[in-house]
Amino acid sequence: MEEFYSLQGEGFHTGEAAYFIRVGGCDVGCYFCDVKESWNASIHSPTHIDEIVRRALQKPARSVIVTGGEPMLYDFSYFCEQLHQLNFKTSLETSGSQSLSGSWDWICLSPKQNAPPLETYFSIANELKVIICDETDIKWAEENAKKVSPSCLIYLQPEWSNRRKMMPVIIDYILKNPKWKISLQSHKYMNIP
Ligand code: SF4
Repeated sequence: MEEFYSLQGEGFHTGEAAYFIRVGGCDVGCYFCDVKESWNASIHSPTHIDEIVRRALQKPARSVIVTGGEPMLYDFSYFCEQLHQLNFKTSLETSGSQSLSGSWDWICLSPKQNAPPLETYFSIANELKVIICDETDIKWAEENAKKVSPSCLIYLQPEWSNRRKMMPVIIDYILKNPKWKISLQSHKYMNIP
């Protein structure tokens, strides 16, 4: 759907420069999705992987973050092979709704209630990032946190349109449950993509 060079705004790698690949197509259909224009893959022209890799090489950071849409609707094996040969770090943002493909240095699992992750994702996720729209989502977050590995970092992230309401709720919850950290969509505060 699009490619851009920016700073990671969310989660553990917040603040780091990376080349972002946003993939068209998503089968999850979250009502709060802030990239609904990504859902219909057919309105986005296919781009050759070699061309994406060539453009990533023109940027100074050796880090590529693949997001969506739901990237795992596609086979990322060749994509990751090419990037690793060029010493890029590969990171994936996924809902976990589809089987994994590709070799990833970092997997951020963002589970969605309407299409829960495949069980295989819980043991391999480096980071669990749960979007919080209302108080009931915290229960969903805890259910997912029970399944990830002990080394997995766990984040609660206020959904953007509800951030003013949910921020105090999340802060209070983390103060009482300090295994969690907060993740903010800091790129939106910085007005960058
Ligand atoms: Fe949007 Fe992500 Fe949900 Fe897909 S999984 S609908 S891209 S928020």
